[in-house]
Amino acid sequence: MKKLDNYSLLNQETLLSTSNGYVGMRANFEEGYKNGYTSITGTYINGFYDTSEIYYDEICYGFPRSAQKMVNVHNAQGIYIYIDGDIFNVFDGNVIEINRELDIKNGYAIRKIRWQSPKGHDLEFTFKRMASFAKLELLTIDVKIKSINYTGDIQIISKIDFTVDSFLNVDDPRAGNDSEAMLQLRSVKSRDNTHMLISDTINSNLCVATCCSYNVPMDFKHGETSTNAKCILHINADESVHFIKYITYTDSIHHKNIENTAIQIAKQSALEGINFYYDEQKKYLDKFWQYAYIEVNDDKNVEYALNYNLYQLLSSAGKDKYSSIGAKGLSGGGYDGHYFWDTEIYMIPFFTLTMPEVARNLLKFRYQVLNAAKDRSKEMGHKTGAKIPWRTISGSECSSYYAAGSAQYHINADIAYAIIQYYLFTKDIDMLKEFGYEVIYETARIWLEVGNYNLKGQYCINTVTGPDEYTAIVNNNYYTNSLAKYHLEWAVKLGDVLKDDDRKAFNSLCQKLVIVKDEINEMQKAAQNMLLPFDDKLNIHMQDDSFLNKKEWDFENTPKDKYPLLLHYHPLHIYRHKVLKQADTILSYVLLDNVREDVMKDSYYYYKQRTTHDSSLSPCVHSMMASRIRSTHEAYDYFMSTIRLDLDDINRNTKDGLHIANAGGAYMAMVYGFAGLRIKEDGIYLRPVKPNEWNSYSFKINYQGQLVKITVDKAITIHCEKQIEITIYDKRYVVKKKLHINLV
Ligand code: BGC
Repeated sequence: MKKLDNYSLLNQETLLSTSNGYVGMRANFEEGYKNGYTSITGTYINGFYDTSEIYYDEICYGFPRSAQKMVNVHNAQGIYIYIDGDIFNVFDGNVIEINRELDIKNGYAIRKIRWQSPKGHDLEFTFKRMASFAKLELLTIDVKIKSINYTGDIQIISKIDFTVDSFLNVDDPRAGNDSEAMLQLRSVKSRDNTHMLISDTINSNLCVATCCSYNVPMDFKHGETSTNAKCILHINADESVHFIKYITYTDSIHHKNIENTAIQIAKQSALEGINFYYDEQKKYLDKFWQYAYIEVNDDKNVEYALNYNLYQLLSSAGKDKYSSIGAKGLSGGGYDGHYFWDTEIYMIPFFTLTMPEVARNLLKFRYQVLNAAKDRSKEMGHKTGAKIPWRTISGSECSSYYAAGSAQYHINADIAYAIIQYYLFTKDIDMLKEFGYEVIYETARIWLEVGNYNLKGQYCINTVTGPDEYTAIVNNNYYTNSLAKYHLEWAVKLGDVLKDDDRKAFNSLCQKLVIVKDEINEMQKAAQNMLLPFDDKLNIHMQDDSFLNKKEWDFENTPKDKYPLLLHYHPLHIYRHKVLKQADTILSYVLLDNVREDVMKDSYYYYKQRTTHDSSLSPCVHSMMASRIRSTHEAYDYFMSTIRLDLDDINRNTKDGLHIANAGGAYMAMVYGFAGLRIKEDGIYLRPVKPNEWNSYSFKINYQGQLVKITVDKAITIHCEKQIEITIYDKRYVVKKKLHINLV
């Protein structure tokens, strides 16, 4: 057996992590590591954070003063197994075989090791880990030990540890950025074959409890910062023993009584038994895959990689109004567990189309924290409206670098875009009444605050940063302006929709938000006159007013090891050049699909040459755009690097956590890209293309309660349960159960 490669182990900790949207643990070895090996040990609760002061040497008015960081909570992964005095671990003794996999259909991760102890005892260990979708507080570690030739006692010590070191990489802004302790231990307890730790955050006034129960009676012993449970099991050669650790996490954001709830769920789980939870997991996932699973008939590797990404999206998504989806989900501490625009633009489309109830919750999160956005708006000098923070957990701005943070005003339109798209697809008008319209309207107000008319009467939005973070603080970023236009138009239109549906509800919203006719007229006027910078000669939209006047980046003489540029060049140097970190203008084309095809094409090739894809949010957009202009081979190449990004560690930082926006992008590159799906005012549009590499692919959507299956080969075939209307290549069809048309 060759030596375990530490770098791969770190990646596997991320790739095989188990989470359910509430709690997640990295795939660290239960038995720990040998000295000299690094592990990023982590367990995270979505939305559970501590705060710390941000220090600036040169502070300006309105800079955020306090940062939030997702807490790496108590570590309950430890299980130490002693065979005849030798501790089981993969660094000593003789590892005959080792196998790890994530079973995305059954919802667990497996690590199987055939091991010979230093004394020569031969055993097989199977560690099966699950984050239950049926009971979100529950994680399980199920250990099966099969003896080949050993008869005797096995001692097992199971641990809950208070101390966990956060991983720190001061040179990389994408990794977590501080390793200060965020918890202080309040108590250590045991009762009724359970034991637990309870801790409080240092600054944010939150608390967390971790409780474990077992399938066998245990003896408990508490240390100063940990608690151990011990048992001795007897095993005969050729027989197996089974040890199950039921771990529950509760926290004071989600639970009123964290201690009792954690104990009650842990005890209940042990009583119901692991098979009950495996069955529940399977039931949940069967339902999920019924809509989500994408088939690529001729390439099972592609099919697995693609669906792996979808599984990770599900595993990362908050399922309540208190949480959203962190940039890394719950698979690592990268980006400090912050929520960005990633959720609304890259991840929610998947849920809107396949699990609208999850999409609705994610959208509601922004309502939950709307007051903080309204406060931020005032702080930034606006009289009214809500300014969505660039990065946050509990709602306030955490970005200390405003040029690539607070200046990204487009996030306001991104949030509105996701709500509008969800509404157009589901026609869930109650969502608009309950919270959607309020978020759309309050965020739309910002465009009247930041914009102004130039001498030609065009509406300008100045001093902002678009999605491309290699170009900052510019005037009239095309993406921002085009999305703001869409946002303002719909803020007005949806008011009419609500008025027609329920005048009383609309009136009370108008009262609550103090909406007056003049303001609505202003919104309409700004949208109509929005400046969308265009260059006639190049036949492209300009990324912003200044972009075309900048210096070209010398790509030819930039060695490979200088990427990502952000780690090797000062931001100002980058800002002066025509170089993109990520898709910007063409992302607007993908989302809005409202410009001529020749312009899309010319812009795509212009920006393609200048885009580094240093952000994982980028290749999927290029894939979608390439599909849209029917350059299928290019679309396919970008698609492949998207679905393999984490599996192959393409950006060399998978160890810090999965790139969840990219996972959403994998879905979009297939469904919005190859199938060309768009959600417009009058329904679903498709413009399918097929890569030459495949004979066919198919996916399903949950369209207002109907399961709709779309298969693309040389033709397009649509099956639905009743009837739907759909536009394919600009021609409208009424599908009654089945439609089959040949593609030219
Ligand atoms: C990208 C942002 C993104 C963030 C979190 C950055 O590298 O430039 O657009 O929101 O990562 O994923």
